Amino acid sequence: MTSQRTRERLIQRLYEQGVSNTQVLDTIRNIPRHLFLDEALSHHAYEDTALPIGHGQTLSQPYIVARMTEILIGAASQLNKVLEIGTGSGYQTAVLSQWVGELYSVERIKPLQDKARQRLRQLSINNVHLHYADGGFGWPEQGPFDAILSAAAPSCIPKELKHQLGPNGVLVIPVGDEKQVLTLVVRKDSTDEFYQQDIEPVKFVPLLQGMAR
Ligand code: SAH
Repeated sequence: MTSQRTRERLIQRLYEQGVSNTQVLDTIRNIPRHLFLDEALSHHAYEDTALPIGHGQTLSQPYIVARMTEILIGAASQLNKVLEIGTGSGYQTAVLSQWVGELYSVERIKPLQDKARQRLRQLSINNVHLHYADGGFGWPEQGPFDAILSAAAPSCIPKELKHQLGPNGVLVIPVGDEKQVLTLVVRKDSTDEFYQQDIEPVKFVPLLQGMAR
């Protein structure tokens, strides 16, 4: 089930769905998604679906991981310092880590963060810094960031995230409650002006407040 052929089928599907950046597809091809799941579910790893990772959370669908990565890369002017909200299993973290200088990732559920840390270590990914906190406030001590990606949806965009963007920084975030839209925000130079674009309808877990155990 984790055979090369199964993985190739997934890559083909993502391509057909409109992920056009072949280098992003290569990253998806190279990161072993089955390592981010419990063994009982690992045979579903190369299907294009979100999968449960415990604590009511899900490992994002490969399509959305590829798409968000592609959008972020296309819109950002540099990717030296990037923030991710919602480490979850660490899968999107692993994908993004291949594209950025240093990746800062915030998670509010400690056991998920612990598991993600183990997996990233197992894959010898060393440019990721994990933080246990409410990511709705970003990671102010480490900002500003060239780009921010959120894997959880707030009802409306937290101003703290916009203000942790550096000059021309980009934020890719799902926004909304029942109806969510993947949204791209770009800071205009170093000003307090932000350009905003709706990308496509999506379905993410909500961005929750505070920290869980
Ligand atoms: N990209 C992850 C997706 C995990 S689901 C993966 O592929 O595994 C979204 C994650 O966001 C969950 O782990 C959830 O706990 C986390 N999350 C939700 N609200 C958060 C918040 N305010 N701060 C930090 N993490 C949050």
